Amino acid sequence: MKKQLLLIGGGHAHMVTLANIQNIIAKGFNVTVIQPSERHYYSGMGPGMLGGTYQPEEISFATRRQVEAQGGRFILGKAYRIDPHKRLVYLEGTEEEIPFDVLSCNAGSYVPRKIVKGDYPNVFTPKPIEELQRAKEKILELAKDRKIRVAVIGSGPSAIEIAGNIHQLCHRHDVTMPVIQLFGSRVFMSGRPARIRRLVKTALIKKGIEILEVGHVRLIESDRIFLDNGQEYQADVTFAAVGVKPSQIFARSGLPIGPDGGLQVNEYLQSIRYPFIFGGGDCIYFAKKPLHKVGVYAVRQNPVLYHNLLACLEGRALVKFSPGGSYLLIYNLGDGQGVLGKWSISFAGKLAFTIKDWIDRRFIKTFSLH
Ligand SMILES: Cc1cc2nc3c(=O)[nH]c(=O)nc-3n(C[C@H](O)[C@H](O)[C@H](O)COP(=O)(O)OP(=O)(O)OC[C@H]3O[C@@H](n4cnc5c(N)ncnc54)[C@H](O)[C@@H]3O)c2cc1C
Repeated sequence: MKKQLLLIGGGHAHMVTLANIQNIIAKGFNVTVIQPSERHYYSGMGPGMLGGTYQPEEISFATRRQVEAQGGRFILGKAYRIDPHKRLVYLEGTEEEIPFDVLSCNAGSYVPRKIVKGDYPNVFTPKPIEELQRAKEKILELAKDRKIRVAVIGSGPSAIEIAGNIHQLCHRHDVTMPVIQLFGSRVFMSGRPARIRRLVKTALIKKGIEILEVGHVRLIESDRIFLDNGQEYQADVTFAAVGVKPSQIFARSGLPIGPDGGLQVNEYLQSIRYPFIFGGGDCIYFAKKPLHKVGVYAVRQNPVLYHNLLACLEGRALVKFSPGGSYLLIYNLGDGQGVLGKWSISFAGKLAFTIKDWIDRRFIKTFSLH
């Protein structure tokens, strides 16, 4: 029987492996990919989709088509649990069991909804990225009749990009500009370099976005936001951009995990207990040097993950992943403006956005089917 390579998620760290399915099959292996949607969204361009710079098809990969066109099997579903002893993956909501010899996990991260009390059609999270398209429609629908209030909870990269792109969205459409409030806890963008914080803050304030640094949001209830200092705010639309956590599959499966719940991997991007399980992107905990949850690392892991999956199937030597040095950060703040930072260089303006747009479009082009 042919050995089975199973991929959970067609995320950013699986791009090279997905592009090489035909080669893997040609070497005598079967390839199966599980993903909850037929397309994988490039999150770096998600806020730009919200702002209307990009259409959903321009920022996503046709995973199903890519897999099937190369002779692989695509399963539309969500991996729920892994049994490393039986080498099976169980899907959410079905009895189906998917066997594997070698497994690679790139199931990404999610935004915990702990502070959201209930399920509301006007409360959104930045992930999955598809949510941003629904949010866009909601904002345009409400803002065409009146001046609405939009709250963005958080002051990390996704929060600031979302706030800036809501401004762009409403600026480009025939709607009343909403009151946009960004709830940045007590310190806006805490932990980021002071100069970057200043540049971002100046750019957002210039657009009329209010930055509140008055307290921590403890609860979101439909159109009300409660702070831990007792204050209460109203919002017609709320984004809970409160940071991400790795997929919960690993904790649920009893696999060794890091303190954040990510699959604990060694330098070979291999589970520290099960040598036939690998992973990359936001869903892993890289034990040697815990990594920020940024796409840059997922992208850098691609060649190593592809090499090691094939090597594991063929019984060859694995190679080590090195996270590399500092990475280029560019925030898309909407209206063609960005903030760029690397080493001691940082600046704001159109050039920053132009560079980001060029890098992002090139990434999509490289890994898309034509
Ligand atoms: C709004 C926003 C903007 C960002 N901007 C940037 C940026 O400009 N630069 C940067 O470096 N980083 C950015 N990031 C962070 C970056 O997006 C993440 O680090 C990156 O998405 C991680 O890639 P990933 O492939 O691990 O996860 P994901 O992109 O989340 O991909 C995971 C894939 O797995 C699938 N999946 C999920 N659960 C399952 C399951 N149970 N079974 C099977 N498949 C599953 C998903 O459908 C998805 O296709 C941003 C994040 C957000 C939210």
